[in-house]
Amino acid sequence: MRKPTRRTEVGRGERVVPGVWRLRLPLPWPGVPHCNAWALAAGDGIVLVDCGMDTPGSMRHLERALEQVGLRLEHVRLLVCTHAHVDHCGQAAAVQERTGCPLWIHPDHAHLTALADDPKAALARRVEIARQSGVPEAPLRAWAEGRRGTGTGLSGPLTPDRDLVGGVFVGTDLGPWQVLETPGHAPSHVVLHQPQHRLLLSGDHVLGRISLFFDHGWTPDPVAQFLDSLDRVDGLDVRLSLSGHGRPFTDLRGHVQGNRALVAERLDAVTAALRARGDATAFDLLPPIYGDLLMPATAAWLLTKMLCYLEHLEGRGRARRLDGEPTRWTAA
Ligand SMILES: [Zn+2]
Ligand SMILES: [Zn+2]
Repeated sequence: MRKPTRRTEVGRGERVVPGVWRLRLPLPWPGVPHCNAWALAAGDGIVLVDCGMDTPGSMRHLERALEQVGLRLEHVRLLVCTHAHVDHCGQAAAVQERTGCPLWIHPDHAHLTALADDPKAALARRVEIARQSGVPEAPLRAWAEGRRGTGTGLSGPLTPDRDLVGGVFVGTDLGPWQVLETPGHAPSHVVLHQPQHRLLLSGDHVLGRISLFFDHGWTPDPVAQFLDSLDRVDGLDVRLSLSGHGRPFTDLRGHVQGNRALVAERLDAVTAALRARGDATAFDLLPPIYGDLLMPATAAWLLTKMLCYLEHLEGRGRARRLDGEPTRWTAA
């Protein structure tokens, strides 16, 4: 098991191309030390794309990152969120309160807002899913205890002013950015494409360092959605991708192929592990598939992905669930 690393991080800003600034904001998560928000020049102000998670001191990090590139929070005229994960929309309510700006986000954000509306019920639901997935009682109780009383990562309820769906354009000095719906990583995920400058705000759909995540339980097959969403961006003319974490990257097509290959590799590994064991719970499959990546801090996240892989394989006739509790799976 790998030990989580902790680093002291502060908000940082840098210009990426004229009219586009990267705002790197610290996160309290093991293995994910920061996220990116993006400032886009727009008239006498900026469009802010994503805004970071609400944690103690997080607004100061955003302000500091803006100050480093000569901007201020008061310049924000519009807040656009690529998806409803707290590292991307957590400070939305606080930014709106400070600036009065509107918020545009995809309407399928219940995967986050259900948690914010009733954290107790959301936690109980996750515990029940984990129990059914074969997580033993003691670590499950420890995990649930650890979650109790921790913040939601949201500074307040999400109050969108406009649905960020396909066909919507976000106007900036560089020209309009076209919204493309790309569910999979999250049901609410969109990317923004600026064709004249060949830029893509890719959110967490395509990251520079390939890393997969799917929200479980909100759509029938997030893995299939994710693969479809990779097809959706594959044909775009893009010279630079500006993602939700890490540095901007070129070679979008190579990254799309890398994502497809990793999904196929994981699905094959899950099938092979099921064959080798005869049958297994989702929890049993975590060590053979994830090895070193599995630690208490990542187990919940990896289990979520495993459930998505198993349900995808079930839909393709490659895996079957057996009756009983916890749910056991077998290769079909
Ligand atoms: Zn995300
Ligand atoms: Zn993220």
